[in-house]
Amino acid sequence: MPLHGFTRLFENMLNHPNIKVMLNTDYREIEKAIPCQEIVYTGPVDEFFDYHYGKLPYRSLDFYHETHNTQVFEPAPVINYPNQHLYTRVTEFKYLTGQEHSKTNIVYKFPKAEGDPYYPVPRPVNQEIYKQYKALVDATPEIYFVGRLATYKYYNMDQCVS
Ligand SMILES: Cc1cc2nc3c(=O)[nH]c(=O)nc-3n(C[C@H](O)[C@H](O)[C@H](O)COP(=O)(O)OP(=O)(O)OC[C@H]3O[C@@H](n4cnc5c(N)ncnc54)[C@H](O)[C@@H]3O)c2cc1C
Repeated sequence: MPLHGFTRLFENMLNHPNIKVMLNTDYREIEKAIPCQEIVYTGPVDEFFDYHYGKLPYRSLDFYHETHNTQVFEPAPVINYPNQHLYTRVTEFKYLTGQEHSKTNIVYKFPKAEGDPYYPVPRPVNQEIYKQYKALVDATPEIYFVGRLATYKYYNMDQCVS
């Protein structure tokens, strides 16, 4: 965890005179309005190339939040349930933040195939599709495809920040 948390980290990064933040804006809505020679693209690589070689599959999640009227809900910050439940993980946040409170918040994670693209599915057949997109990426040097969606690869936060 960054010393002052991720919110402060991103606020400090974005608090630069050359950076203007536009939320809820697809880059395609503004690409013609902002002429530039180079772009750093962090969106899905298949979307960028209009799904030319088909859609890259992702695993997604539903989150189910609960507040419990107890100091501590579970004996560890994260418990995985790989087999026996519809959910695969229960996270109790106060372990991670150090918050002290008489109640506690937890979240259940339910895996699903559709929805927001969270985790690339590491199967050879999907790597073959990605390889085709990568060839298009390599032929587009003025655009830097970075991050988990543009490289179809899972990263943890420490890998993204360092
Ligand atoms: C459910 C989940 C849980 C995770 N838990 C952990 C964890 O506990 N610990 C850990 O270390 N890591 C965790 N990670 C991983 C970590 O969150 C990611 O690796 C990290 O956020 C990736 O950063 P990124 O910049 O590559 O991509 P993102 O954070 O996804 O940033 C991509 C950005 O591109 C924007 N974008 C996409 N398409 C467009 C478009 N067309 N136009 C404009 N903008 C666009 C998106 O809005 C987004 O802001 C988790 C990831 C997920 C999905």
